Amino acid sequence: APHQVVDVHDLLDATLVMFKAKVPPGVRVVRAYDRDLPPIPAYAAELNQVWTNLIDNALSAMGPEGTLTLRTGRAGDLLAVEIVDTGPGIAEAVRPRIFEPFFTTKAVGEGTGLGLDISYRIVVNKHHGDIRVESVPGSTVFRVLLPFTAPGR
Ligand code: ADP
Ligand code: MG
Repeated sequence: APHQVVDVHDLLDATLVMFKAKVPPGVRVVRAYDRDLPPIPAYAAELNQVWTNLIDNALSAMGPEGTLTLRTGRAGDLLAVEIVDTGPGIAEAVRPRIFEPFFTTKAVGEGTGLGLDISYRIVVNKHHGDIRVESVPGSTVFRVLLPFTAPGR
């Protein structure tokens, strides 16, 4: 089980710093953080990889204009982190496959198709959380759910 206890907001902010040069001027970044959430047991570097993958996908979906929202909150006994973009959404035919390794709709050289596969394994296998997607044209939400306490505690 993870032995670090981290504030997810610190992780999200650290990831955003890495993206600073990659966010187009027409993309607004909104941080909608619930600052009352307690720190959680987590593998920090791995969770940062998850935020990196989800933000990378969101930015590439939106292109030059849109809004990227990072939202945190409580979902029952889980902490929820939502990465929301205003891009075109995920086509219904594609949605069942997006977590498969090597599945990509991007051009050769632009996507490995591994981002969501790795993210799923980090969230579900390593943190005993869950990752879900809701997408309609104009809005895609990836919702990562993480337990407040390490399993077996
Ligand atoms: P990659 O980004 O290398 O293509 P991912 O595993 O990160 O691989 O994503 C798989 C596919 O899921 C993408 O190619 C894209 O079709 C779809 N996808 C993921 N996130 C989004 C998003 N925010 N908006 C639209 N499509 C998305
Ligand atoms: Mg990706």
